[in-house]
Amino acid sequence: MPKHMPPAHPFDDDKLKEECGVFGVIGVTDAANFVALGLHALQHRGQEAGGIVSHDAEQGFNSVRRFGYVRDNFTRQSLMESLPGPLAIGHVRYSTAGSKGAAIRDVQPFFGEFSMGGAAIAHNGNITNAIALRKELIERGSIFQSSSDSECIIHLMARSLQRNIPERMEDALRRVEGAFSIVAMTRSKLIGVRDPLGVRPLVLGQVADGWVLSSETCALDIIGATYVREIEPGEMVVISEKHGVQSHYPFRRVPSRFCIFEHVYFSRPDSIIGGRSVYETRHQIGVELAREAPVDADLVCPVPDSGTPAAIGFSHESGIPYAMGIIRNQYMGRTFIEPTEQIRNMGVRLKLNVNRALIKGKRVILVDDSVVRGTTSRKIKEMILDAGAKEVHFRIASPPTAWPCFYGVDTPQREKLLAATMSEDEMRDHLQVDSLKFISLNGLYRAVGEAEGRNSKCPQYCDACFSGEYPVAPSDMIEQGFELKAAE
Ligand code: SF4
Repeated sequence: MPKHMPPAHPFDDDKLKEECGVFGVIGVTDAANFVALGLHALQHRGQEAGGIVSHDAEQGFNSVRRFGYVRDNFTRQSLMESLPGPLAIGHVRYSTAGSKGAAIRDVQPFFGEFSMGGAAIAHNGNITNAIALRKELIERGSIFQSSSDSECIIHLMARSLQRNIPERMEDALRRVEGAFSIVAMTRSKLIGVRDPLGVRPLVLGQVADGWVLSSETCALDIIGATYVREIEPGEMVVISEKHGVQSHYPFRRVPSRFCIFEHVYFSRPDSIIGGRSVYETRHQIGVELAREAPVDADLVCPVPDSGTPAAIGFSHESGIPYAMGIIRNQYMGRTFIEPTEQIRNMGVRLKLNVNRALIKGKRVILVDDSVVRGTTSRKIKEMILDAGAKEVHFRIASPPTAWPCFYGVDTPQREKLLAATMSEDEMRDHLQVDSLKFISLNGLYRAVGEAEGRNSKCPQYCDACFSGEYPVAPSDMIEQGFELKAAE
């Protein structure tokens, strides 16, 4: 990661991180302004860098790509005036583990010039055979400009013999494996694609006479767009001012496997997934957790902010009062979050503070969304005990994260995941808490609306980071020595 761009949180190391958000608009005046607002609403999906490409009949394609927050770059009038036109796409990103220290050339959207015109493309997710594809393309003469997966798609499109850009994209995507949502644009078309399993989200909205594609519905709200529907798994929509929305299905149809972690943590609580509010689902996760792992205590406190809806649900179901026992400092400036060793050691205390008056002498249930390395959980426990708590009980709104994600989420290597090397009891002892319980995978499925829980023969979601069952073989990683879970 570039030195001038710190991680979003000083304890970011201990959370899984969604790596990208995508947004596109067609059919409105100055579409780039809408895209900037949309990307601002998607900033939680990636804080390292952002980019916008627009097209205008007179000026052609224009692009701006910058490190830093959307609000620090795409609010300058002169910059926004350099992105005219009724069609624009944009991208926010958090770099993958392997590409920290990336250059501006890795910031999306990418642009390719073809004989039938230009195209820009941005994606959220990960192409799991990108290394093999890149090798093959380089051997056949392609010259790559970046280390990003998306560029493989541009080169595959360049080699296609199809007549137009959408057809070339279909051709290219049939060579690609993995989990991805794409927004792309030509001179006159906005294109959206979800991978065959629909692992990563993408929704369609309408604003005035125009159309919008977005990773999440919360970004439709910010521009006053109405939600139309989710792009279906395996669907490609080609949207033009002349023909509206046209659907194509370039892939073989397979049962969908949406990322269940979007419900737990990645998506904003004010977004809608599968017709249901993310907040409501997280609340229900707390309800399930209270049923599965009750404990006698005085207070239920969230680890802010993502643990909050589940903590409220836990409190409702258990009858134990809810309290803001930990307060988050919303105004952490960048000044303090240089990732030096000294500051890292202060880490959690810079961002979170314990509400001593509430905690003292109490038996406290702390509800968090996940435990990754466990480093943050341990520090929070120490803060709670320092504040005079009598007991600390952790309740976690996701099953143990024991496997890395290869589908566009930054996870530590498997051996760094606490749950990969320890049982639940060992983790409890390691964290030195009075009790530690995770929601079960079946409980999580019930909370997201699958009344029967997880269908083990045909799982309804991607849950690989919990189950170790990868719906798309991470072929590049296997090539590099990653060992899949042994069949049971
Ligand atoms: S492995 Fe986990 S984080 Fe990655 S897509 Fe699947 S459920 Fe989501």
